Amino acid sequence: MSWFKREPSTQTDETDQNRTVRTEGLWLKCDGCREIIWKKELAASHNVCGKCGYHFYVDVRARLALLFDDGIWEERDADLVSTDPLKFVDTRTYRARLDSTVRATSLRDALVAASGRLAGREVEICAMEAKFIGGSMGAVTGEKITRAIERSMERRAPLIIVSASGGARMQEGAVSLMQMAKISAALMRLDEERIPYISVLTNPTTGGVTASFAMLGDLNIAEPGALIGFAGPRVIEQTIRQKLPEGFQRSEFLLKHGMLDAVVPRAQMTSFIAKALDFLSGPAQRAAA
Ligand SMILES: [Zn+2]
Repeated sequence: MSWFKREPSTQTDETDQNRTVRTEGLWLKCDGCREIIWKKELAASHNVCGKCGYHFYVDVRARLALLFDDGIWEERDADLVSTDPLKFVDTRTYRARLDSTVRATSLRDALVAASGRLAGREVEICAMEAKFIGGSMGAVTGEKITRAIERSMERRAPLIIVSASGGARMQEGAVSLMQMAKISAALMRLDEERIPYISVLTNPTTGGVTASFAMLGDLNIAEPGALIGFAGPRVIEQTIRQKLPEGFQRSEFLLKHGMLDAVVPRAQMTSFIAKALDFLSGPAQRAAA
C-alpha cells in the first residue's frame, strides 16, 4: 500500500523533482497536527482537518454556500469598485494592485454582500475574502455593508457578517478608517430597529474590522483557533514590555476572557446561527409555498 498515488503523465522526464510536483497537488500537511491529509477528504469536510479539527481557510464563495440554504443566494452591489481616492502608490500603484486582484479572484472587492435564506429564514449575509488585498476594508466594503444593513431594515431580515480581514485598507488611508464609523452608525440604527446582527469571526480578523463591526454583534461567534485581535502580538509586547500568554488572540482564549459569546466549529455554524436567530427573533416565518 502506498501513501502516494501517481497520476498518469504524458511527460517523459521522470526526475524525482517531477514526481514531487505531481503528488503535491493531491496531499497537504495539516498546519494543526502536521499529518499528511488527502485534499479531497479535506474538501469534503469543509476544509476542516478530520484528525485534529484544524480549520483551514475557505474562500468567500464556499463560505456563502455553507450558510445559505441549498447554496443559493443573490449577490448585491457586485458592481461597486474602488475609485482609488488618494491615487495611492506604494511599491506599485493601488490601481494596478486592484486590477490584478480583481483578475485573480474574480471579485471586485474584499466583501461579498448577498441576500437569501438560512434555515428557511430571510437573511442578509456579508462575507469577506482574505485573499483580496488581505481582506482589507475600503470604501466599497463600507458601502456594501451599509447597504446590507439598510436592506436588513427594509426587509426586517437579520444580518450576518463573516469577517476575514487584516483591517483597514492602507491604500485608502483615512477613507478606509471612516468606514468604521459609517458601519458602526448604521449598526446602531439596526439595533434600534431591534433586528438581530450576528458577527462571525474567522481566521484572521484583525485591525479596524475587529475595532468596529466584528465586535458589535448581538452575538459575536468565532471559528476554532481563529486569530482575532487589533494590533499584532509583537507590537503589543513592545508596547507593554511583557511576554504575552500562550494562545493569546485565539478564539478559545478570547471566549475564556469574555470577548466572544461562542466558539463554533464550521460544520455546526449554520445550525448554530439558525438556533440563535430563533432565540433572538422567534421561529422563522417560512415563505408561502
Ligand atoms: Zn490536523
